[in-house]
This record gives sequence, C-alpha cells and structure tokens, in this order.
Amino acid sequence: MSRIQMATPLVEMDGDEMTRILWGWIKSMLIEPYVDLKTEYYDLGLKHRDETNDRVTVDSANAAKKYGVAVKCATITPNAQRVEEYGLKEMWKSPNGTIRAILDGTVFRAPILVKGVHPTVRTWQKPITIARHAYGDVYRNTEIRVPGAGKAELVFTGEDGQEIRQTVFDFKGPGVVQGMHNLDQSILSFARSCFQYALSVRQDLWFSTKDTISKTYDHRFKDLFAELYEQEYREAFERAGITYFYTLIDDAVARVIRSEGGFIWACKNYDGDVMSDMIATAFGSLAMMTSVLVSPQGQFEYEAAHGTVTRHYYRYLKGEETSTNPVATIFAWSGALRKRGELDALPELQSFADRLEKATLDTINSGVMTKDLALLYEGEAQAVSSREFLEAIRKRLEGNA
Ligand code: NAP
Ligand code: MG
Repeated sequence: MSRIQMATPLVEMDGDEMTRILWGWIKSMLIEPYVDLKTEYYDLGLKHRDETNDRVTVDSANAAKKYGVAVKCATITPNAQRVEEYGLKEMWKSPNGTIRAILDGTVFRAPILVKGVHPTVRTWQKPITIARHAYGDVYRNTEIRVPGAGKAELVFTGEDGQEIRQTVFDFKGPGVVQGMHNLDQSILSFARSCFQYALSVRQDLWFSTKDTISKTYDHRFKDLFAELYEQEYREAFERAGITYFYTLIDDAVARVIRSEGGFIWACKNYDGDVMSDMIATAFGSLAMMTSVLVSPQGQFEYEAAHGTVTRHYYRYLKGEETSTNPVATIFAWSGALRKRGELDALPELQSFADRLEKATLDTINSGVMTKDLALLYEGEAQAVSSREFLEAIRKRLEGNA
C-alpha cells in the first residue's frame, strides 16, 4: 500500500516523560505506516531545552509561525524539584507560555466525546469548546490590603501629562483594593483568534462578559469584538452558516447548561480559567481534552490538555506496562494532519485524520479502552495497556478489528 504524501512539513514539538513515550508509539504504530510523514522536528524534552538554554522552544514557535501548523507533546514546566531532578542550569519558563507569547494566540479546549462516558449535564450531546483570553485582568493585578481609614484612588498619568483621577472608595476602616488592566491590542488578538477558529471548525461563537456592571472595562471587550466582527468577519460567518452572538455572562451560563453543545464559548481570562475546569470535569476526563493554540494570523498548534503523566512514567521506567490514555495526543496529531491537509488541499490527508479519529472512537465504543476511561464507562469495558489500546486502534485502521 502506498503511503499518503504530504506537501509542507508539520512542526513537531516532542516533549517529556510518559507522553514522550506515547508520542513515539503513536507515530510508529498509527501514523508512519500510512503517511509519508514530513516534520520539522524540535526536541522540547527538558534535557534538550536545558542544553539549548531554551532556544529550542523559541525556534519551534518561530517554525510554527513560518509553517502554520504544529503538533506538541506535553512538556515539563520546571519547578525547584525538577531543577534538582534534571540538574538544570535554570528554572526554565513554561514552554506553553513561551510559545503563546510568540504566536500571540488563544487556547481553545474541547472534550472528545465517546458513547459510554456520559456528560454530567444530560442535555450535552456535542462538545463545548472554551476559548480563554490569556492576558491581563486579575492575573496581572495590583492589590493593596488597606490598613485603615483613607481614600483609595485610581490615577492615570498620560505621557503628555494628562491626568485622569477617580475615587475608588472612601475607606472608614480596613479592607482591600485592587487594580487591573487590559489592552485593546490583546483583546483584538483574542477576538481575531476566536473568529478564525469558529470559521475553521464551522461552529457558532458565543462571547460573554459582565458589561452591565463593568460599563467601561467589560464593555470595551464587547465593543471591540462587535467592531471587528462587523468590519471583517460578518460576511465570512454568514457564508459559513454560523453565528456570532454576545450575551451577559449570567445568561451565557444558563444557556450553556440548557444547550446541546456544539459551539465555542469565548471567555475573559478569569471566566475561562474557572469555566474550562467545570466543562472538562462535566464532560468526563482530562485525558479526553484536546487543546489548540490559534494565533490571530491563523497559525495552529495542537496538543493534549493534560500533562506528562509523571506517575505513570516512573512506573514505566520500572518496567511496568501502564494504561495511560493516548487519545488526546492522538487527536493532537489528527487535528494537525487534518489542518495541514486543508491548507495544502490534500483530501487524502484530511480523510486519514478522520479515519484515525474514527478508529480510536470505535475502539472505545467496542469496549476496549485504558483504565481511566474504563472506570467512567457505562457498559462492558475491557481495560488494556496503552500499547494494547494502540494495537487495537491499528487493527481497526487496517480494517480487520
Ligand atoms: P498530569 O500529567 O496531567 O497528570 C495528573 C494525573 O491525571 C495523572 O497522575 C493521572 O492520574 C491523570 N492523567 C492525566 N493524563 C492522563 C492520561 N493521558 N491517561 C491517564 N491518566 C491521566 O498533571 P501533573 O501530574 O500535574 O503534571 C505532570 C507534569 O506535566 C508536570 O511537570 C507539569 O509541568 C506538566 N504539565 C504539562 C502540560 C503541558 O505541556 N501542556 C500541562 C499540564 C502539566 P493517576 O496517576 O491517578 O492515574
Ligand atoms: Mg483553572
């Protein structure tokens, strides 16, 4: 059988621990036999990041910018314990943070649904994707613990000497006060990424803030989204048969719970932080959550939402077979291959991505899965090791399961 040819390489960002092991197996068992895989390889494993003084992370992000599509394995974000464990020169920054800063992107997280694992919310039938703005607000705040009576003021001093001054509160006794900010530029990038992504997956886009209470701050988000939509995206949305709609966050929360799913919910930084944990948990499992970083220029970096599954890796090192769930990592690969196929007009590559995802879901629907899913599964489930699971998917891909 001849393998599917690619035109442009994928940017491949290898990673750490158990997910690095799964990475190699997924490639050799499920992709390379069928696709003449072209990648530009970057080793983001912690050891190599240290050897290159983290240069490799920056290079990989620039490559993602150049080629447009990347697939990333989970990586260790070093802490003090990792500095010791790996003998690091420095406590390198989170690779995801570095890549996000270079691509200026927004992260979209979507659950993968399977028949026997039911969302806690009965009405949800299709995935809900959360788009979280990843800049500013309470994550970049300034806070003061007010010691006693006094006046708290908000003062802006322009470079031209202009001053804007407002009283936050006249304190009669102790309390707290907080200042935070955001940037038109960042909000617009966020909006652009959301519109691009909605078009790329052909799903409706919802956006919610608390603009009734925050009449200047949150209202700015609402206005910038609306302006950009009218100026640049309305026509494309109408052509794609999808809608953009804005609503108050309270209303959005109620609608999300009553919905069937199948849309993208854009959230401000804090809302997205909290709501993505709620959505992930209510859909079933972190191991079934995909994540894609989309830049405002329409560059895509696909990954799993979970980490490097350290505990399983230590068991693997002792020679034990682990039952680590590879689904989100498989879907990172299929997502990247499908996008590459779309951009390069390679229908065979796109349909391979569809077949790989279908073979994965069919395997689970047939009752064969890793341990984490078997625990959640309603019905007869056979918990197998990662390798046995990948082997079962491969059999389906070959059409003899
Ligand atoms: P984690 O790797 O996501 O694992 C936490 C626990 O969740 C695991 O111990 C396992 O539970 C379960 N789990 C997660 N993914 C699973 C899978 N695919 N299959 C089966 N079970 C799974 O998070 P962590 O332990 O907090 O972080 C480990 C390392 O990953 C850290 O060094 C962190 O910096 C890094 N990290 C990277 C990313 C990224 O690159 N995007 C994201 C998060 C964390 P049981 O042990 O109970 O089976
Ligand atoms: Mg959170």
